[in-house]
Amino acid sequence: MMGRLETGQDQFFYSYRLDELVPADHLVRKLNEILDLSWVRSELAPYYSHTGRPSIDPELMVRMLIVGYVFAIRSERQLCSELQVNMAYRWFCGLSIESTIPDHSAFSRARHERFREADVLRRVFERVVESCIAAGLVGGHSFSVDASLIRADVNPAKRVPGDQPIVWPAQASRAVRDYLSALDQEGTETLSDGRKRRSRMAISLTDPQADWVAYRKVRSIFAYHANYLIDNELGIIVGAEGNRANRIEENRSCVAMVARVKERFDLTPQRLAADTAYGNARTLKSLVEQGIEPHIPIWDKSTRQDATFSRADFRYDATRDSYSCPGGKTLKTTGRVHDRRTRYYRALKADCDACPLKPRCCAKTPSRRIPRDIDEDARDQVRALAHSEAFEQSRRERKKVEMAFAHLKRILKLDRLRLRGLAGARDEILLAATAQNLRKLTKYACGPPPSPNPA
Ligand code: SF4
Repeated sequence: MMGRLETGQDQFFYSYRLDELVPADHLVRKLNEILDLSWVRSELAPYYSHTGRPSIDPELMVRMLIVGYVFAIRSERQLCSELQVNMAYRWFCGLSIESTIPDHSAFSRARHERFREADVLRRVFERVVESCIAAGLVGGHSFSVDASLIRADVNPAKRVPGDQPIVWPAQASRAVRDYLSALDQEGTETLSDGRKRRSRMAISLTDPQADWVAYRKVRSIFAYHANYLIDNELGIIVGAEGNRANRIEENRSCVAMVARVKERFDLTPQRLAADTAYGNARTLKSLVEQGIEPHIPIWDKSTRQDATFSRADFRYDATRDSYSCPGGKTLKTTGRVHDRRTRYYRALKADCDACPLKPRCCAKTPSRRIPRDIDEDARDQVRALAHSEAFEQSRRERKKVEMAFAHLKRILKLDRLRLRGLAGARDEILLAATAQNLRKLTKYACGPPPSPNPA
């Protein structure tokens, strides 16, 4: 016999505890078990006034943000709507069924004011990493680093060429104000390594800190980089940073993340795997000085394709600080450093004039000149590691960081940022990395689901 639903929805009072509604194996229960945010209020206390109207509880806001990133809810407006109806999310956030859900605009205010001043999202991320370490999920001897493009939240059509002056509106958006303030701090002419700053290809009028970069060799997009430093044991993200999408910042993020992991967690890996983008001599030198073996393929830009001698055909003698050429002559340097990075080693003109190999060496110049970075020693050390078994293992393990990015984009749906400006990118990458680590922590560290509490 076909049954009929007997109960209606006009009951005024219900008798149950919110805790009973949340299934024992729901992810929020495991998250609640491992996540301790009791420190948030005390750390943020100095940033709040002692008088005035009470703010929304900062721990509630952090919990809501974690729900948003763990469950891939891509907007704060949608997150507030979900909390309205989802009892599990309410339970995790400590809200009762009658509690008022904060308005989505409260997130923007909290982020721009106290959260960024107190760097609270980084503190949440690092607390979760500490939990991963305490649970034995971090080996600490082998790391991988990489960066992945994340599309900025802009209309690419609203751009101007980077070498043209821009008249910004008097009432500029926060993203534009941040850009102008960063420009003032950086200066416009010279980079920290002494090279001239090149003008950018294009500047977004909506989010000028986003870089105009080639995407999958097909087209260009405005984007930021998500930089991850992962432990190779289980792929726990130990360092995360949103940054500008260019090689210089990518290398800077790598060095900064390694230093921060050492400072915060006292972890220095024996080896670090990365792709050719990190073969920068300065980066390699920094790693080598810390006792880390950089397992990074070196892309030698000096290799020539026209059958003439490349730099690799010249042998460097470290004791004499000179090169020997294929003709057996010596190339010496005056020791002068050009552009703060490069020394030139030159052959004598008389040697080259008399050399039968000159057509294959320096047919168009009076003598041969070999440039050498002041930190080339580090690159030589890394080249020497290239065929070891450990290097091969690092190359295989490097896939784990690519898997972390695939998870970030496919499962957490963060292939496009929601917040604008570099500060927004930093917030989002930290939250996403926190969510990824929490999901791993629940998988590896949580025991069987607890039995439901008795009524
Ligand atoms: S041309 Fe000069 S640098 Fe080149 S092989 Fe001959 S002597 Fe050496």
